[in-house]
Amino acid sequence: MLPKPFLMAKPVLEYIEKHNHKAYFVGGCVRDLLLNRPLGDIDIATSAPPEYIQEIFPKVIPVGIEHGTVIVRYEKESYEVTTFRMDGNYSDKRHPDTVEFIDDINKDLERRDFTINALAMNLHGEVIDLFGGRNDIDKKMIRTVGNGYERFTEDPLRIIRALRFSSQLGFDIHPDTFKQMKDLRKEIESLAVERITNEFTKLFAGEYVANGIRYLKKLGIEKFLPVFSDFPDLINQIPSAIKPLQSFGECIALFNILKPEITVSEWVRKWKCSNKTKLEAIQLLQAYDQYKSNGIDSWLVYQLSSEFYDGFCRLLDILEQTDITIHHMNAIENELEIREKSELAINGYDLIELFPARQKGPWLHQLIKRIEKEVVSGNLNNTKSEIKDWIKWNPLEID
Ligand code: ATP
Ligand code: MG
Repeated sequence: MLPKPFLMAKPVLEYIEKHNHKAYFVGGCVRDLLLNRPLGDIDIATSAPPEYIQEIFPKVIPVGIEHGTVIVRYEKESYEVTTFRMDGNYSDKRHPDTVEFIDDINKDLERRDFTINALAMNLHGEVIDLFGGRNDIDKKMIRTVGNGYERFTEDPLRIIRALRFSSQLGFDIHPDTFKQMKDLRKEIESLAVERITNEFTKLFAGEYVANGIRYLKKLGIEKFLPVFSDFPDLINQIPSAIKPLQSFGECIALFNILKPEITVSEWVRKWKCSNKTKLEAIQLLQAYDQYKSNGIDSWLVYQLSSEFYDGFCRLLDILEQTDITIHHMNAIENELEIREKSELAINGYDLIELFPARQKGPWLHQLIKRIEKEVVSGNLNNTKSEIKDWIKWNPLEID
């Protein structure tokens, strides 16, 4: 019997077929089913045009209608439904210039990147495998559909996707495919950065990331990647015993520790990352700095957002071979005297009252930070009177 996510999606396929169109499970979900791997998204390919899917289903989000993709919401789940298509040129290296909707799944499978991804399965669990994808899954092999030179020229992102799949699946890249990737590696220069960032994030998060990084080093694409091109030895500095990192913020933190000359801002700007990624990298680096001088103490845990505990442990594991886990971090957090500044028994207004002659200024913030640190570190009780006494005995260093 098919696993639950497929069974849940089945009515969507049945409904399309009831309207006299073909529908298949396609791509990564079929591959992962055959590999017995945890499933990502369930993608559906159909002969029905996107406008028709919009007509027959009550809840449809038109995410990429010009490329034939819509999202069908069914029983609280989302399914990407894409019309069978043939792709034209990728002259902007983002999307094909033209797509032609077709009635034949075979041609749709032909446009896909690797044999292991060019599989489709119908409602009855029968698999369409035109390019030996199942055989390659058995052999744990990544190989292009058709001529690799053509496929990598059409869309050079596939060069990076091959690395990504080697990292996620632990597969080898077929020597012919790898040679073609190497011959055409310069082409990745023309790609939209966001697409590269997206694949790199998955590459570094793969279960077999060491496999992916081994291929990355062998491929020699540093000259064609943003930032790495100015620091070509950086890729070789990535530890070969690397373990999965779950976000690009964690990757930037690692890169900055390996190569402090490159600032977080430069990474974020040149790899077009979000502000959240930036904040994550900055917090992780601050925590790592503190770890290097004091180990893991309350002040470190207090300052690091709990959503980054896991990532911090992953970095320590890679860089310091520690086995500190999120449980250690949580245990320290649970013992904290306060969780945030607002819990301090004293606030900015109290301090201004204590120093009526002073102008408001950065001293205020700095003083509060010192008090926070003393309280969090257990050197000072969090009561108004004790904090006031502490201030008397610890004169302000800053004016
Ligand atoms: P994941 O588990 O990460 O979602 P996936 O195999 O589903 O892996 P996606 O990037 O979601 O990968 O793409 C879905 C499918 O679309 C792929 O399996 C492949 O068949 C096809 N595909 C995606 N991007 C490309 C591309 N650049 N060139 C050719 N085919 C592609
Ligand atoms: Mg997918």
